[in-house]
Amino acid sequence: MEKLLIAANWKMNKTIGEAAEYIKDFIPRLAGWDRVEVVICPPFTCLAHLSEALQDTGIHLGAQNVFWESKGAFTGEISPAMLLEMGCRYVIIGHSERRQIMGESDQDINRKLKSASSSGLVPIFCVGETLQERETGQARDVVLRQLQQGLAGLALQDLVIAYEPVWAIGTGLNASPTDAQEMCGYIRESLGMIRDQSWAAAIPILYGGSVTAVNIAGFVEQQDINGALVGGASLDPEQFARIVRLNTDA
Ligand code: PEP
Repeated sequence: MEKLLIAANWKMNKTIGEAAEYIKDFIPRLAGWDRVEVVICPPFTCLAHLSEALQDTGIHLGAQNVFWESKGAFTGEISPAMLLEMGCRYVIIGHSERRQIMGESDQDINRKLKSASSSGLVPIFCVGETLQERETGQARDVVLRQLQQGLAGLALQDLVIAYEPVWAIGTGLNASPTDAQEMCGYIRESLGMIRDQSWAAAIPILYGGSVTAVNIAGFVEQQDINGALVGGASLDPEQFARIVRLNTDA
C-alpha cells in the first residue's frame, strides 16, 4: 500500500464557524508531511464550507452517512450524488453508532455500500464486535458476518475497511496493537475468501477505537493495519495533526 490513510470522524460535532477555525489551525501543522492521506468527515452541514477550505490542500472530504436511493420521498436522507456534488470522495458506512442507535441492519448497510460505490464514492465500511461478543469468543464470527452480508453482491470497487471494536470506541480503552493486527489480518484473509487475494491485499484496513497521538504508531506498524479512523481525538486540530504525523517530530 502506497500511503497510510487516516480519517477523522467528527460525528455530530462542530458548527461551520468551528470547522473554519479548525481548518485554519490544522493545515499549517501538516506542512512538509506527505506520508499519510488525510480524510475529514464532518457533519453534513459543514461539507460545503470544507469543500472550499480544503481545496488544494490534498486533504479529502468524506461524509458520515448516505442513503441508498438516488432521490425521492425519503425525508431527512442524503443521496450519493448529493455527496459527490459537495466534493466528497469518501463516506463512512456501517459505523457502530448507526448500527446500535439508529438500528441499521447488515442489509441496510449492504444497500448503502452498493449505492455509494456504484456512484463513485469510496466507502469506509466499519465492522467490529461488542465487548460481550468478544468475551464469548464470537469476535471473528461477527466480523465475518458483517463483511459477508455487507459486501454481498457488490461489484469490485474501491473500498476501505475500518475495524472498530465497539468496546474501544469513545471509551479510552483501545485494543492492543497485536489484538488489532490479529483481527485486521483475519479481515484481510476473509476479504480474500469473499473475493480474491489480490483484491484483498490492496484494500486499506484501518483500526478505529480510542486512537491517540500516543498509540497511533503502534497500530500503523502492524502488517495489516494501513491507517486509522479517529473519533474523539480528531476534534482537536493539534491532537489530530500529531496523529497524522504519527507522533514524530518530522
Ligand atoms: C469512531 O467513532 O469511529 C471512533 C473510532 O471514535 P474514538 O476514536 O473516539 O474511539
